[in-house]
Amino acid sequence: MSTPTSTAEPQPGAGAGVEPMVRAENVHKSFGAAHILKGIDLEVAPREVCCLIGPSGSGKSTFLRCINHLEQINAGRLWVDGDLVGYRQRGDRLYELRDREVAAKRRDIGMVFQRFNLFPHMTAIENVMEGPVQVKRETKAVARERAAALLERVGLADKAASYPSQLSGGQQQRVAIARALAMEPKLMLFDEPTSALDPELVGDVLDVMRGLAEDGMTMIVVTHEMGFAREVGDALVFMDDGVVVESGRPREVLSNPRHERTQSFLSKVL
Ligand code: ADP
Ligand code: MG
Repeated sequence: MSTPTSTAEPQPGAGAGVEPMVRAENVHKSFGAAHILKGIDLEVAPREVCCLIGPSGSGKSTFLRCINHLEQINAGRLWVDGDLVGYRQRGDRLYELRDREVAAKRRDIGMVFQRFNLFPHMTAIENVMEGPVQVKRETKAVARERAAALLERVGLADKAASYPSQLSGGQQQRVAIARALAMEPKLMLFDEPTSALDPELVGDVLDVMRGLAEDGMTMIVVTHEMGFAREVGDALVFMDDGVVVESGRPREVLSNPRHERTQSFLSKVL
């Protein structure tokens, strides 16, 4: 590991208004010789909905995985809620986090993938209860009550006793969202949450996400749903080949993309 280097610089946001929920500064990530993230710069404020778009292979999933401690960056800096991802700072020295510390940080971040990844042998409500009971040591009674409320929030109060195999893809995805919310995350990452769904099931999932946004959840959403990005997103970020090419208000980026690469991408997806 060449960087992140030890530093005594002040934390980002110190004395400069609201501290970002996520801040990436020149983030690089390689897999062997494959240089995938080539200097990502990005800031997401608390309560902001940041929609991330870009061609397949541009590094969107990799970037989310770095934010969520699933990958370690090779250079640059990445902060979540003021904490350097993967490191603990003491004085001007950085120490790599231990597995237990990483697990604790990851608890604050909810992630929803394209594939729903529910536990197949558990009912919907048991899926939602699992994290609070196993990780947060909540009692089953408390966890069940909260899980029921979360299932209601995602429109699935009547499916609590159903197994994943008895649910549609859209319903499974909404259970997955409820399961992430059960850990009371301060940040939610969505990686193409509706891409694997039949078209008629997409709307219900997007409605749940819209509700979350209205409730003030900080969200980064990798999506091809430009309508959602336009209506719900506070920011739209276009990534290509491992860098942020362009970002701004969704309406502006969508109607008046400044960069040729953005124009070319949007002409294919809009
Ligand atoms: P996107 O989500 O924008 O489609 P990804 O972040 O999934 O892009 O992938 C970007 C590139 O990184 C792809 O070429 C992919 O093959 C490569 N990649 C992702 N994860 C790994 C890995 N664990 N090992 C090797 N290459 C990877
Ligand atoms: Mg991806």
